[in-house]
Amino acid sequence: MATTIIQPGEIEPLAGKAPWLRLPERKTIFARREKRCQALAKDHPLKNYLLFMAGVARAQQESLNGYDKTALPDANRLHICRQQGIPPLAVQNWRRDPSWHEVLRIMIEKVRDTAEPATADSLDRLLAGGGPAFEAMADGLLTGNYAGMDLAAAPLVGAALQVYWVHMATSLGRESFAGSAAPTFCPVCSSPPLASIVHSGGIENGQRYLHCSLCAAEWHMVRVKCSNCQSTKEIAYHGIEGDSGAIKAETCDECQTYLKIMSMERDPDIDPTVDDLATLPLDLLMDQAGFFRCSFSFFLIPAEEVAA
Ligand SMILES: [Zn+2]
Ligand SMILES: [Zn+2]
Repeated sequence: MATTIIQPGEIEPLAGKAPWLRLPERKTIFARREKRCQALAKDHPLKNYLLFMAGVARAQQESLNGYDKTALPDANRLHICRQQGIPPLAVQNWRRDPSWHEVLRIMIEKVRDTAEPATADSLDRLLAGGGPAFEAMADGLLTGNYAGMDLAAAPLVGAALQVYWVHMATSLGRESFAGSAAPTFCPVCSSPPLASIVHSGGIENGQRYLHCSLCAAEWHMVRVKCSNCQSTKEIAYHGIEGDSGAIKAETCDECQTYLKIMSMERDPDIDPTVDDLATLPLDLLMDQAGFFRCSFSFFLIPAEEVAA
């Protein structure tokens, strides 16, 4: 394991014109993810899962392209949220429109036959449960309350929720959002980050953004700062020797957590969801070193949670 320690003096402010919030590119977000799955699947130990994920991403893009109008926060609600620093589409209090159920049904139909048999069985049971089962699972996944849930279907439910939230966020547009009172959570939907991204090129060059695990929005956070407890003291970077160096674990000694940090400068094709999955050995190293993962991914819920 290669470790680098960087001192807080190296923190940079947000450059003048770089946006504080980046919303996902609606036309390409999941198509890009599909491509990344296929590229990384070659000779990868998780080849089958990555190819399954490629099919899920393809279905996500198709659903997003054809998403009908859905309820959105009105101007008054947006104004109140702006004043109070509340994410307007916060998972805790946004009342979900059942339109996402159809997204999930269609997605399951498209990928069921490519799933592992145990996952296919779970998907069948979920479909049989219909809307109430979808909602119960969404509640559990969005609040981290997994007890008693059949989580083999979680990636598909998460994928449908992602389509719904990306649809809402991009329909509203960046100007609808303001900074959140809780800077370690997404200012659009209040979800935890999946990873952080250092962008390359243009006005965002070298800037670090936290990438939302649900709506894929990215919000700025200065570098060398813990995304969990906001400490700037004992931050270190750990990578796997001999790899491209594009993805490292940023650890914090204060709260003993880590978040992956992904450099688009080193690899412009990075997709946080896929690259997170493809770098599981880094999670194992961090686990052995005594650090807890503070990020969330619908596609990587730890086995002990699944068993609960
Ligand atoms: Zn979000
Ligand atoms: Zn910390």
